[in-house]
Formats: sequence, C-alpha cells, structure tokens
Amino acid sequence: AGVSGTWDSSLDTSVNSFIRIKAIKTGDKPRRNDPEGGFSFMRTACMHCVDPDCQSVCPTSALQKDPVTGIVTWDIDACCGCRYCQMACPFEIPKFEYDEPFPRVRKCFLCSHRVAKGGIPGCAEFCPTGATLFGKFDRLLKEAKKRIALKEGDSYEYPVHTLDSGDRTPKKVAKYLNYVYGEKDGGGTQLLILSAIPFTKLGLPKLPDHSSASKSEGLQHTIYKGMYAPIALLIGLMFAAHRSVKKEESGEEEGHE
Ligand code: SF4
Ligand code: SF4
Ligand code: SF4
Repeated sequence: AGVSGTWDSSLDTSVNSFIRIKAIKTGDKPRRNDPEGGFSFMRTACMHCVDPDCQSVCPTSALQKDPVTGIVTWDIDACCGCRYCQMACPFEIPKFEYDEPFPRVRKCFLCSHRVAKGGIPGCAEFCPTGATLFGKFDRLLKEAKKRIALKEGDSYEYPVHTLDSGDRTPKKVAKYLNYVYGEKDGGGTQLLILSAIPFTKLGLPKLPDHSSASKSEGLQHTIYKGMYAPIALLIGLMFAAHRSVKKEESGEEEGHE
C-alpha cells in the first residue's frame, strides 16, 4: 500500500520505483539470515531474463532484448498498452501507469543510458558494500561460485561496484545456500542472486530450467553450453549481472562491463 503522497513509499516496485530492497522476516529473532525466525534483505528489480517472457508475449515488439548488452528495454512508440507483459513476467515486474492519460510500462532498464556511455548502473555505483555488483555474467558467476567455495568465518575482500573497481570491503564470509539463483532458473536471468535462506522465502519463484518463451517459440540459447552446476555456496549477496552475449552461430563472445 505505501504512504499516501510519498512517491517512493511502495512496498514493491512501482511505476516510480524500479528497485526495492525488502526486509524479509521469517520470525522475531534479531538474527540476520536465519531461515527459522530471523530476517534477510532482498533486492527486487527486473531480472533481465535470457529469454524474457515479457518480450515473448508482447504483440508489438515494444519490449526488446538488446543483442549485445542483454538489457530488456521498452519502446513507448511501439507499445499498445495491452499489459500482456505484466501477466507473463514470472517475477511480476512490469508496472503500468493506470492513472496516466498516456500510460507507460515501467521497469528497471538496467540503466541502459549509463551503460551506453561506458558507465555502470546507478544501483551498483552507489551500493557501498558490494552487495550489488555489475559486470559480465561469466565473471560474476565465477565470483559467485568462488564466494560459495570460501570457508565460513574466513575473511574476504569483497569487491565493490565492479570486480575491477579496486574498491574492496573486508568482511567475514558467512554461510550461503549452495545455489546461484538465475544461472538456470526460468532459462536464466542476467541478475544472479546468492542467499543464506531458501529463495522461495525471499519471494523468488521456483522455475524450470527453461523459459516459457523457449517452449512457445522454440528458441535455443547456447549461453549455458559448457557450464557446470554450482558447486558450493554462501550468503545473501546480489549480483546485477550484465550478461555477456555469445553469438549463437559463431560462438564468439561479446559484451562489456
Ligand atoms: S523479469 Fe519480467 S520484466 Fe524483467 S525481463 Fe524477465 S520477464 Fe521481462
Ligand atoms: S503493454 Fe506494451 S510492452 Fe507490454 S505486452 Fe502490451 S504492447 Fe508489449
Ligand atoms: S539498474 Fe538502474 S534502473 Fe535498474 S534498479 Fe539499478 S539504478 Fe534502477
């Protein structure tokens, strides 16, 4: 519901708020990341799916996945306002401006304007702890698995903003679930999430390893070729991954941080 008159007070993403950090309570214990009665933080925003269901159902191609960056964008001139994208998104991300005379579909666009100029998304730039990192998907996946493999209680210099920024936050390694959400879920997402508590408790849906789009359109993506299953794991850090795109035919890799 939110507080009336305050534009960014919504409890979930909204037409004005493309990202929400939610405090998830599983009980009354003042312990972070305790799945039986503690609390955790969860970042909610567009996952920039590999085969986006929103794009698949869009009858006018207003939603597009950039072939180089993988960013899922929306074109105001092409949109007819049918809202099929809202119904199709497994993460309930697209929001519609019901109150506007010329309503728009609103969601995170992975700061494509900043990325186009060689920058990084605002959420990654301003995150002081490295909980949100931006970079190529393959490198971030490697970093996620590296953290998962670290020993609980050891010290680790967590990178901040990007892997190559030079900024580091030293912290004790905590316990994480042995799973990187987004590596395969729903056919894969460009946002990768690590968590200490079950992902369903964070509000993330349990999805098959393929997208609805891949079934309905017969799409074949080679992005997971040669990848192996996650090995070990850690805590609730989140990675805003700018997935590198592999040319399906040549196998050549593109993309940039
Ligand atoms: S999370 Fe939803 S809105 Fe974002 S790309 Fe995936 S299907 Fe589309
Ligand atoms: S509301 Fe617009 S963007 Fe969404 S499915 Fe319909 S035409 Fe496409
Ligand atoms: S990538 Fe940009 S638009 Fe998306 S949540 Fe981060 S700051 Fe907001």
